[in-house]
Amino acid sequence: MSAPAPLPLLLSNLIAHADRQHGDTPVLSRRVEDPRGPLQRSNWRGVHGRARRFANALGSLGVRQGDRVATLAWNTHRHLELYYAISGSGAVCHTVNPRLYEAQLAWILNDSRARVLCFDLSFSELVAGLAPQLQHVEHFVLLSDEEHLPAAFPAPLRAYETLLAEHGDDYAWPLLDENSPAGLCYTSGTTGNPKGVLYSHRTTVLQVYSCALPDTFGLSARDVVMPVTPMYHVNGWGVPYIAALVGASLVLPGPLQDGPALLELINAERVTFSNGVPTLWSRLLDTLNETGTRIDSLRRLAVGGSTCPPALIDAYAARGIELRHCWGMTEVAPIGLISTPKADHEHLDPETRAARRDKQGRPLPGVVFRILDDDGRELPHDGTAFGELVVRAPWVVGNYFNRDSAPDFTADGWFRTGDVATIDPAGYVRITDRAKDVIKSGGEWISSIELENILLTHPAVQDAAAIAVAHPQWNERPLMAVVLRPGETLERDAMRAHFEGKVAKWWIPDDLVEVDKIPYTGTGKVSKRELREAHAGHQWP
Ligand code: ADP
Repeated sequence: MSAPAPLPLLLSNLIAHADRQHGDTPVLSRRVEDPRGPLQRSNWRGVHGRARRFANALGSLGVRQGDRVATLAWNTHRHLELYYAISGSGAVCHTVNPRLYEAQLAWILNDSRARVLCFDLSFSELVAGLAPQLQHVEHFVLLSDEEHLPAAFPAPLRAYETLLAEHGDDYAWPLLDENSPAGLCYTSGTTGNPKGVLYSHRTTVLQVYSCALPDTFGLSARDVVMPVTPMYHVNGWGVPYIAALVGASLVLPGPLQDGPALLELINAERVTFSNGVPTLWSRLLDTLNETGTRIDSLRRLAVGGSTCPPALIDAYAARGIELRHCWGMTEVAPIGLISTPKADHEHLDPETRAARRDKQGRPLPGVVFRILDDDGRELPHDGTAFGELVVRAPWVVGNYFNRDSAPDFTADGWFRTGDVATIDPAGYVRITDRAKDVIKSGGEWISSIELENILLTHPAVQDAAAIAVAHPQWNERPLMAVVLRPGETLERDAMRAHFEGKVAKWWIPDDLVEVDKIPYTGTGKVSKRELREAHAGHQWP
């Protein structure tokens, strides 16, 4: 007789483990019905029980393995339960970004052929408007109780709490094939129509193990974790899974993401770790500075999604909080790089140390990177040559959902990230641009990100973006779009002087335009296309 197969890598194992080993560990959440009211207080045992109830409810709605169950929800206890209930039962947890336009949402939900749509109270009106356009959704579930059901809704609507009450928690997670689909996320569509990236149990579990490690997010059963990256964006960077894996306590911020609300939660619940985009942490810093409040519990923040200005890393370091800069993308599930020191850190000269700190970091275990020139030849890892970043990992997506064509791969199987980067001899990667945002001056590339980081250290500057604008002599030259702090001014010559000695002379931006705000996409990235269009006809001095 052959030996039994080892247990497969399944997401249900994570929640079952959290219940068995850390059942009493708190899981807290702001409530969408009353965000500023008392927190919802539960623990891993409670989350596991309610996830099993909802798995039974999904069965009663006729959901079968492989079906897509969509969510439009904040980071709450109910969204957490859905994560485990949907994927654990063999359906696909299809998180949708509510900040997209209505037409995009309809397009995505039709493309994914979602059969069930679970949504938070905040999105009732949005979903009522969408419902008639959704061709495949058979069941709508409001993530609340009977009391909050709207008086009128264009389709049959059930309350989540009622569904839970109607079903028991007697449910055994099925022993699925670890390669079966578990999650579906659409890229934000900054590059064309959104594309669905399908994650399997195996890819997600492996990425989560790698992300929990000391030199990645470094989480443990002693942590109190507040996931701020939306759970509708690449599984909230896996943090809701990592917390179960390591048995950390969770504090879910619900719909409130402003600086004061986050600060209050961090201090009240003694949060030790959180994750989010740079603009979020710069808002929190503003709140700290304005109110003079201290944070004693917070040890570490993971920051990514777009470049983190070094000035922000320094400002937090001065408060004893480590900002770990990381890079990721939907297709990489998502984290691929994170900036943590190596053993040689102590012995590095301050300049090298600072240069490393400013980078996006080194690869997570399991992830391999290369940089390629325009002809697809591999470039040296010397910290200066820059080329297109390509990646391989056990969890890089193989195919987009519902598409015949594979995502962009090189002939020998490396995923093309669409980013341009340098890699130094120690393995630290610096993202210099999105390929579509590079500034090509006289045939040479200028890193817009580096220009932005430098200008953001100017005291008059609140926000800045470097864009490529056509130039009669150089083909393109960098133009800085700048948001000034209230009451401040910045002349062209003073701006140029600020760059002197920090970059090559020919990199120094020729001019600046003052703007009211830098446009950001729904996932916190600067929408440079908008800026380029607005300033396409800029008259160079
Ligand atoms: P989309 O590809 O649809 O814009 P993603 O969320 O997948 O949405 O975005 C991935 C991209 O975000 C990366 O390819 C990169 O350009 C950018 N990005 C993520 N993290 C960083 C970072 N730390 N520094 C610079 N760029 C980043």
